[in-house]
Amino acid sequence: MPVTPAAFFGHGNPMNALESNRYTEAWRAFGRAVPRPRAILVVSAHWYVQATALTAMPRPRTIHDFYGFPRELFEVRYEPPGLPELYDEVADLVHPTWVGADLDSWGIDHGTWSVLRHAFPDADVPVVQLSINALKSFDYHLQLGAALAPLRESGVLVVGSGNVVHNLGGVSRALPDAGFDWAQRFDEAAKECMLTDPAGACRLDGHRDFDLAVPTPDHFLPLLYVAGMAGATGADVDVLVDGYTYGSVSMTAYTVGMAAPEPSGSGMAPLLPEGPPPDGANM
Ligand code: ZN
Repeated sequence: MPVTPAAFFGHGNPMNALESNRYTEAWRAFGRAVPRPRAILVVSAHWYVQATALTAMPRPRTIHDFYGFPRELFEVRYEPPGLPELYDEVADLVHPTWVGADLDSWGIDHGTWSVLRHAFPDADVPVVQLSINALKSFDYHLQLGAALAPLRESGVLVVGSGNVVHNLGGVSRALPDAGFDWAQRFDEAAKECMLTDPAGACRLDGHRDFDLAVPTPDHFLPLLYVAGMAGATGADVDVLVDGYTYGSVSMTAYTVGMAAPEPSGSGMAPLLPEGPPPDGANM
């Protein structure tokens, strides 16, 4: 079995689930390019709780964890099977770190399905989610990512879904496709780190723009899993697509262990043709 790549996706506005733009096109290109995985393990910014847990139900439900969006978005169902037997494999890999088996509290949140709906539109590859433990340090998350690296050799696609720069208090509707200077500085620093020394990504907490770029850690931490995994395996990291939205959110996506497929950069739809204002709490 070929070694499966890994990836980090900047998911941005939940409306990306329904839209077609240069980011969603890059996600689709990734899905087409990657060898069909046995399962997809997603670390989503939107499962940020006080425990480390893995979904282990056979039929995870679609979770609509946002408000103030059109009905169409609430009607989205993304219903791949789960893969309960992956729990034992993951628990063994991360031992002595403890990971709980979640049988009924979570499912597939929009950080996951807004991306996978594009990358794996048939929803026929099993999907599990790993929660982000809000009580733990950056090093913990990097190390957990590194511990998961052997999953690449057993056909599991590990995905982080968040945003490297994510400051919803700073969004500007005047900048639909641009980033503030500080957002660009931080995203570029992350890029430098990911492309040259991914395991050093946690050093970004000393970056001058860290407090603006990462006012809360939930959307940044999924990157550390992918960075830890890349650092552990020495696999090549590439930028899949990059850009900014609303000034204070970066949409940069990375692949690990594969050449970046050519994103279709022309003829793109506007990012948010008729979309609602950026949601204050759940982007
Ligand atoms: Zn989000």
